[in-house]
Amino acid sequence: MIKKDVIIIGGGAAGFFAAINIAEQNPTLKVAILERGKEGLQKVKVSGGGRCNVTHAEFIPQELVLNYPRGEKELLGPFHQFMTGDTIEWFEKRGVELKIEEDGRMFPVSNSSQTIIDCFLDEAKKHHVEVLYNQSVKNIFVSPRTQSRGLNFEISTNQDEFSSEKLVIATGSNPKIWKLLEGLGHAISQPVPSLFTFNIKDERIKDIPGVVALNVEVKVLGTDLWSEGPLLITHVGMSAPAILKLSAFGAIELAERHYKFEIEINFIKQSFEDCMEQLKELKQQLAKKTVFKSTQFDLPKRLWHKLVLASSLDQDSRWADLNKQQLEDFAKQLTQAIFKVDGKSTFKEEFVTAGGLDLKEINFKTFESKLHKNLYFAGEVINVDAITGGFNFQNAWTGAFIVAKSISG
Ligand SMILES: Cc1cc2nc3c(=O)[nH]c(=O)nc-3n(C[C@H](O)[C@H](O)[C@H](O)COP(=O)(O)OP(=O)(O)OC[C@H]3O[C@@H](n4cnc5c(N)ncnc54)[C@H](O)[C@@H]3O)c2cc1C
Repeated sequence: MIKKDVIIIGGGAAGFFAAINIAEQNPTLKVAILERGKEGLQKVKVSGGGRCNVTHAEFIPQELVLNYPRGEKELLGPFHQFMTGDTIEWFEKRGVELKIEEDGRMFPVSNSSQTIIDCFLDEAKKHHVEVLYNQSVKNIFVSPRTQSRGLNFEISTNQDEFSSEKLVIATGSNPKIWKLLEGLGHAISQPVPSLFTFNIKDERIKDIPGVVALNVEVKVLGTDLWSEGPLLITHVGMSAPAILKLSAFGAIELAERHYKFEIEINFIKQSFEDCMEQLKELKQQLAKKTVFKSTQFDLPKRLWHKLVLASSLDQDSRWADLNKQQLEDFAKQLTQAIFKVDGKSTFKEEFVTAGGLDLKEINFKTFESKLHKNLYFAGEVINVDAITGGFNFQNAWTGAFIVAKSISG
């Protein structure tokens, strides 16, 4: 039996961040990470298209939590302990400068996730964190018989047996570990995918992949789900923030509908009535021009063409000739266009799982289990997930830092 003071299961973002901070804050503790892979930090490596979107330039906790469909309420307190600004400072102090992009996402100045990996590996070495690879955890026992000796947990892997006083679970979205945690009496919210794009077959978006409408409103019909933002037309449907936000906030509801539902898009973010008024004015102003060739409302030309043809107009229809019905048809396409979604696709290989350890069973002041003393959690293993933009990593950093403070203090 190999004895450690603290064992961390999972050498990913949360696991490394917790281990480094524990070892730094309390150098007397023997800290080990058990990682099933032959390397750790694999998601960090591929994250943000290889650039690692480390966090987001949102510095108000009350605003930051709004990006978490699951965890909004619970993360408010933790963000007051360790915020995005603390993340930036943590990396800066260790020589990793971050930069802010226009949309608020933050990346290492190097534009390479390897910078983050190198920082973690260097820090782990510097603070004598032992990182044990090819150690896939198969079983966890809470061991009352050894508690008198301060050894609360027994952990068996494919190779060895370990015992430790404190145990941190940082295994990300891993069904096998969730099963083990169920065995320890914890409840798991059923995992479903989050952050996906919508599959849509429709003449209005056919053959125009890459077209972006900069600011649209999207509703999922028959639900309260609603979002706004840029919309990208892809080869198989629609993507970009307006869609990804719906996929995250609607992760459970859309899974229940087996990803078959209807959406209504307002491409110009105006009411039908306002749009009608404007179209009537255009009818006067542009009377002799064809509707097809006079793109309006800052819409991309190719999308405008599609919406014109989807109404009861053709390429040669002139503004002056439009009757009331045609104006209404066109206004509907612009403000209330309905599309059938049938299935989903992965967003740039980035996916996050909604689901995980039930939030009611965690003390968010310490990230300790309410069921087992000295058992802690950090990262995606708990039922927290966010929209895209660096928020998922921020959850990992915040949880891991608070775990470290609780353990080392
Ligand atoms: C392609 C992609 C790109 C992403 N890009 C971004 C981004 O730019 N910004 C952002 O904020 N979020 C991003 N995310 C989400 C982000 O990567 C995760 O939220 C984050 O990695 C979660 O950290 P974690 O430490 O909880 O889990 P992970 O990083 O998944 O780490 C868990 C670790 O535990 C190990 N493990 C699991 N089971 C066992 C076991 N039984 N025994 C031992 N070890 C085990 C795994 O091998 C892994 O190394 C991205 C996700 C993907 C898939």
